[in-house]
Amino acid sequence: MVDLKSQYEKIKDEVNASIQDVLENNTYINGPLVHQFQANLEKYLGVKHVIPCANGTDALQIAMMGLDLKPGDEVITADFTFAATVEVIALLQLTPVLVDVDLDNMNISLDGIRKAITPKTKAIVPVHLFGRAANMDAIMEIANEHNLYVIEDNAQAIGANYTDKNGKKSKVGTIGQVAATSFFPSKNLGCYGDGGAIFTNDDNLAHIIRGIVNHGMYERYHHDVVGVNSRLDSIQAGVLKAKLPNLDAYNLARKTAAKKYNEALSVNNNIVVPSFDFNGDDHVFHQYVIRITNGKRDALLAHLQEKGIPCAIYYPIPLHSQKAYADVRYKEEDFPVTNQLCKEVIALPMHTELDDEQIKFITDTVLEFLK
Ligand SMILES: *Cc1c(COP(=O)(O)O)cnc(C)c1O
Repeated sequence: MVDLKSQYEKIKDEVNASIQDVLENNTYINGPLVHQFQANLEKYLGVKHVIPCANGTDALQIAMMGLDLKPGDEVITADFTFAATVEVIALLQLTPVLVDVDLDNMNISLDGIRKAITPKTKAIVPVHLFGRAANMDAIMEIANEHNLYVIEDNAQAIGANYTDKNGKKSKVGTIGQVAATSFFPSKNLGCYGDGGAIFTNDDNLAHIIRGIVNHGMYERYHHDVVGVNSRLDSIQAGVLKAKLPNLDAYNLARKTAAKKYNEALSVNNNIVVPSFDFNGDDHVFHQYVIRITNGKRDALLAHLQEKGIPCAIYYPIPLHSQKAYADVRYKEEDFPVTNQLCKEVIALPMHTELDDEQIKFITDTVLEFLK
């Protein structure tokens, strides 16, 4: 699905030098590379504060811990996402409220959000799924109208742009009150281990969060709030610092590969390819996900695996159907799109190193099977 080895070959000198620097200087934790990467990412994103942490799941949890949410507060998020999004809501004893997604962009349904709002609702967590920006104009509008926080799950869309209705361009993850991202190796900006970060433009929230990631300390050995230990280590920061200047090129390579996939695959009526019809939103193709509408998705998956082509189902089971997140208030008819997507989606290999020959082999194999 990904080819991190070939990508590494091209940035080997910078990455190795960064790692060497950490080893020579013994600055494993909170070293200068962490601060340099943080500053570089703030500049790249155009956001006031980046707070690095240990992984994307922690980033989501810490972002929520930083807001004044109380047990029982309702947090609306998408039924069709990776479990981490909903897991942290439940862990903090907030009440996750799952809503359906839209068929065209697979992101949280605006109607779904509106219908799910109750007096207990405190926050919305849009996920920029597979790298496509959610409809932030509308989400911010709903949030402002009902006085809700917006916590962006930006684990899959770092570097994606969003152009708002006034033509203002910003990076996704800098639009809500706070955002979380992941530097898991296969993410668009990945390190060689675990890593994550929280972004915010709110000085006060940034201060609170900086304490939370460090055991709730604002002054050494004074624990003002219950915190966690969540750090990005210096070696990972060095890897990320070396990779960040390439992020736009990486995202472009993904988008270019997606376009080639689309051109080849859209000839078959049983395949629905991701739309390139952008309307202020952007897509950085963390995953290239198509829908197979003739009921042969599982057969195609088995066929591709047999031919040695990696592929995967993101996600096979809706969150509302998972034991851990079941709730009497959910009815099947509230999730027609997620239920459909879980049966139809398949992700093809997507990374920065895909070449034309690989894309042709993959698309030929898919088309031959579905003809
Ligand atoms: C990867 C991912 C996360 C979690 O990130 P980790 O670094 O693996 O903890 C959260 N949300 C989404 C949508 C993700 O894809």
